[in-house]
Amino acid sequence: MKKIPFVDLRAQYLTIKGSVDAAIAEVLHETSFIGGKHVKEFEKNFAELYGVNHCISCANGTDAIYIVLKMLGVGPGDEVITTACSWISTSETISQAGAKPVFVDIEPDYFTIDPARIEEKITKKTKAIIPVHLYGQMAQMDIICDIADRHGLHVIEDCAQSHFSELNLRRAGTYGIASTFSFYPGKNLGAYGDAGCILTNDEQLALNCRMYANHGALVKHQHQMEGINSRLDGLQAAILNAKLSYILEWTEKRNMVSGWYLKSLKGVKQVALPVIRPNAMHSFHLFVIRAERREELIKYLSENGVETAIHYPVPLPFMEAYNYLCHTLEDFPVSRDYQSSILSLPIYPEISEEQVTYVCGLIKLFYS
Ligand SMILES: *Cc1c(COP(=O)(O)O)cnc(C)c1O
Repeated sequence: MKKIPFVDLRAQYLTIKGSVDAAIAEVLHETSFIGGKHVKEFEKNFAELYGVNHCISCANGTDAIYIVLKMLGVGPGDEVITTACSWISTSETISQAGAKPVFVDIEPDYFTIDPARIEEKITKKTKAIIPVHLYGQMAQMDIICDIADRHGLHVIEDCAQSHFSELNLRRAGTYGIASTFSFYPGKNLGAYGDAGCILTNDEQLALNCRMYANHGALVKHQHQMEGINSRLDGLQAAILNAKLSYILEWTEKRNMVSGWYLKSLKGVKQVALPVIRPNAMHSFHLFVIRAERREELIKYLSENGVETAIHYPVPLPFMEAYNYLCHTLEDFPVSRDYQSSILSLPIYPEISEEQVTYVCGLIKLFYS
């Protein structure tokens, strides 16, 4: 029996072992463990690749959102609008900042926040919108930014799943006042531990975020405010630098893999395939289908060596943590309807066409 893991970080490591091992050895020799040369280099390289003025590294993608919210002055009494379908970081950071998360349902097919349902949620208390480019597909940023402009709201893009995604030739992460990235190991650009960053063209915001992430000080012992300790360590920065030169190639490969799935599963009427927006460059962090009899399919695939996952089993407003908001299933009909059928199939740059064919063969057999 074949074994196809959901992700295979070892396979990727083996393809770049030489440069990663050398990068790690360099950090150990220099003992540049926190901050230092590699962190500065990564910030410079990442900002340059995006054509953005400032990259502020931090400890993880969750902190990145929290830091931006705090430095934009979001706090108690404020509301922040975000999507019903994301990882909890997107909404828990709103609460951490002291504000109230206000959820909006997703668009059918695209899984991203539905712009047509944003305005009805805007109140006098609304301060910001956090769209998430979920699974690697961009939200409709033109419309979202237009709404935000008209109401004087900040836009913060959660790019944790959308490294180098594009829409109309413009990259995710270049629309909002700031964008936040996660380099969690399984993300498209992953460190070998926790890591994250903020991108922005706003110089003052950049300075404030940098200060806040480092105990409120830009210069050692000169604390202009109280902050937090959220730093990128040298080892992670060196590893990210080593991996950065491959990211565009890996993104292309993810698209190639998705192409194999789309071609092979086309016509299987029990499966709804991911839809790519017109003029978009999806980065396929995840390949999410909607499948009939999902639980049986998961079991069948698993018995045949194929690992799958669900992103995410419960939409945010329906989680116990948000019981206090008293939402009902009817408040988020698209999220509700997708909840029981979404299924993430294995996707990573190193997966082979043969492996994808095997997975698709099983799915077709299951439904035949
Ligand atoms: C992974 C993820 C985060 C958080 O990133 P961490 O680095 O794990 O803190 C935030 N938002 C989304 C959408 C994510 O997928």
